[in-house]
This record gives sequence, structure tokens and C-alpha cells, in this order.
Amino acid sequence: MAIVSWQGTDAEYARLYDAVVRNCECVAKQPPHTCAAHVMLEDQSVLDRLLWVFRTRGTFIAREFYARPVSAR
Ligand SMILES: [Zn+2]
Repeated sequence: MAIVSWQGTDAEYARLYDAVVRNCECVAKQPPHTCAAHVMLEDQSVLDRLLWVFRTRGTFIAREFYARPVSAR
């Protein structure tokens, strides 16, 4: 099992973990089943990408939904 670390703030991690808990489908039976949301927390590249998207999404949303037409001169 690889060691992963969260590069964001504690508040950002708390928000991510709340989302994982809301979507958790782990099953307590034999053999134990770990859901995809919890498996995601073990993947460093996924965590890094999620943090990047979380921090940059405002720019993309603004460009997509609040763009102003460019006037021809
Ligand atoms: Zn789970």
C-alpha cells in the first residue's frame, strides 16, 4: 500500500472526506469490500488532481458561464 499525503488544507480535506462519506458504499462482510470513494483516497494522483480542480474550478466556471462576447473592431 502506497503512502499518500494530502497537499491541501485541513478544511479542503474535511470537505473531500465529507463527500466520500456521503458516497461511501463500503460493505462490512467477509471478505470486506472497500468502495470506490474510499479507494480513491489511496491514490496520490487522484488526490492531486482533485485538489487542482477544486482550486481552479472558479476560473473555468467564470469562463464558461460568465463569458462576455468579444466585439469585432
Ligand atoms: Zn467507503
